[in-house]
Amino acid sequence: MIDQTAALYRDLDRILVTKEEIAEAVRRLGRRITEDYAGKAPVLLGILKGAIVFYSDLMRAIDLPVTSEFMAVSSYGSATKTSGVVQIRKDLDHDITGKDLIIVEDIVDSGVTLNYLKGHLANRGAASIRIATLLDKPGRRRVDLKTDYVCFEIPDAFVVGYGLDYDEKYRNLPDIGVLAPRVYQKD
Ligand code: 5GP
Repeated sequence: MIDQTAALYRDLDRILVTKEEIAEAVRRLGRRITEDYAGKAPVLLGILKGAIVFYSDLMRAIDLPVTSEFMAVSSYGSATKTSGVVQIRKDLDHDITGKDLIIVEDIVDSGVTLNYLKGHLANRGAASIRIATLLDKPGRRRVDLKTDYVCFEIPDAFVVGYGLDYDEKYRNLPDIGVLAPRVYQKD
């Protein structure tokens, strides 16, 4: 392993999900979506930036003529707790009227971000909207949000890796781990 990556791993308290477990779960989810949307061409809507790694693996595990869209929303900044305020920073490139949307998200925590986004997209005429999330923290939910596809339910801890960041770092770690509180408590 290269030294810089080893240094990032030292900021983790523990590994929560290994890259092998992720690969298996993403393969399984790709098969499920392929079956559920047989005969259709869903739009995979990735939420930047945290979902990028999951997104690129998941889209290759789906055997359908999918198309791609991305949105950027913010509710966090660099803090580890949600602000509850959702802002759209990058919008869709194409009209989604009549399309089957699958929102691809890295993690659902309070649910505030996706709850807002789902309502917003429904108003724009999507035929159907489902949520595929890599991680879910059901214990932290503040709104009643249904997640359709979940790879892993995790406990209430701040995690990084496989696309998830803290202050824009750790996204390139292949595994998902719990960030040691000393890393963010010193800020
Ligand atoms: P929610 O609106 O569900 O509270 O927050 C969703 C967003 O918060 C996620 O897309 C992600 O950006 C961020 N988030 C929530 N929990 C974590 C976590 O444990 N680690 C990281 N890196 N981001 C998180």
